Amino acid sequence: MKQVIVDSLMSRTVPTVTPDTYLMDVAHRMREEKVSCMVVVEACEPVGIVTERDMVSVLGEVLEEQRSRVARVKEFMSSPPITIMHDTPLFDALVLTQGQKIRHLPVVNEKNELSGILTYTDLAHAYEHIIEQQREIISHEINIENQRLREVNEQLQALSMEDALLSVGNRRAMEVDLAYTHNAATRYKREYSLVLFDVDCFKSYNDYYGHQAGDDVLKLVAEHIRCSIRKADRLYRYGGEELLLLLPETGVTGAKILAGRIVKELAERNIPHAKSQFNVLTMSGGIGSPDLEKEGTFEDWHHIIAQADRGLYFAKNNGRNQVCCIANVSSTEPQPASAPV
Ligand code: GH3
Ligand code: MG
Ligand code: MG
Repeated sequence: MKQVIVDSLMSRTVPTVTPDTYLMDVAHRMREEKVSCMVVVEACEPVGIVTERDMVSVLGEVLEEQRSRVARVKEFMSSPPITIMHDTPLFDALVLTQGQKIRHLPVVNEKNELSGILTYTDLAHAYEHIIEQQREIISHEINIENQRLREVNEQLQALSMEDALLSVGNRRAMEVDLAYTHNAATRYKREYSLVLFDVDCFKSYNDYYGHQAGDDVLKLVAEHIRCSIRKADRLYRYGGEELLLLLPETGVTGAKILAGRIVKELAERNIPHAKSQFNVLTMSGGIGSPDLEKEGTFEDWHHIIAQADRGLYFAKNNGRNQVCCIANVSSTEPQPASAPV
């Protein structure tokens, strides 16, 4: 059987520092980039590694030296914590850990009481278990085990969080992330925005340049957006040539600025599109964000998507290659004719 080698698994963006980097800067980068270690590199060679554990032991020493009894946990803890219910499916837990780049998920019961903790290692073990089962079945008599193999493969497929073409989150992962983000937003009054992007005149792009070229340019668009966003932001394929960008802790104003820049810079890349009025590939965007002051206005995240969709519709009708945001309204109210961004 062909061996899986680490080259195909490893992440190629490695957070690195040099031996002379100040510890303070290491801590800052680990916090900002949400990474659990930094590899120490000298002339491209790894000469050491600083992990969270090392940082904790340094912190312990520093605090002891200062005899600091002042700082209390409540002053530096992350709050509110991201928690999950004990009956959360594995898939949802994976989406949360990956999307929010966290490795520990306290588990709560129906009364929101702590009942356990799930670590990233637990999730990796679960994954490993399924793969192991698959391998066992394959090495046995295929005919007898066919049904079980199919079941295990279905399990693996169900755990897939990525869109195979664009290498961004898939629709299922998006729904889990949005449901969680929306609930946390309304419960703890934490704002968030989403941007629904749609490539302009993509049908004619396909017709003129061919489907394969359409696929390639779609990948390029996804990469373009990914390069313009922060690590905490999440990008998903909403469907077809539509991408959804989820911006936690970001209000409408911030979303307008970011999305406007992304749309403008795509046009500036001058990707030829002979059938577009602009002669280059462009896209439009619509913004949605819950109005946290209006209690109960948005029952769930579908309303925020609907709001973004209305903005997108407006952007398309208004000439494309732009981002629009229709003012927050309840989905039952008629659509107002707000000005675009
Ligand atoms: P608009 O500016 O109004 O958005 O026009 P449009 O042509 O982009 O929109 P329309 O909905 O008419 O067409 C979308 C096209 O996107 C049709 C569909 O074949 C194509 N498409 C959807 N997914 C893919 C994909 O994965 N690859 C390729 N190549 N094309 C896709
Ligand atoms: Mg579309
Ligand atoms: Mg389109």
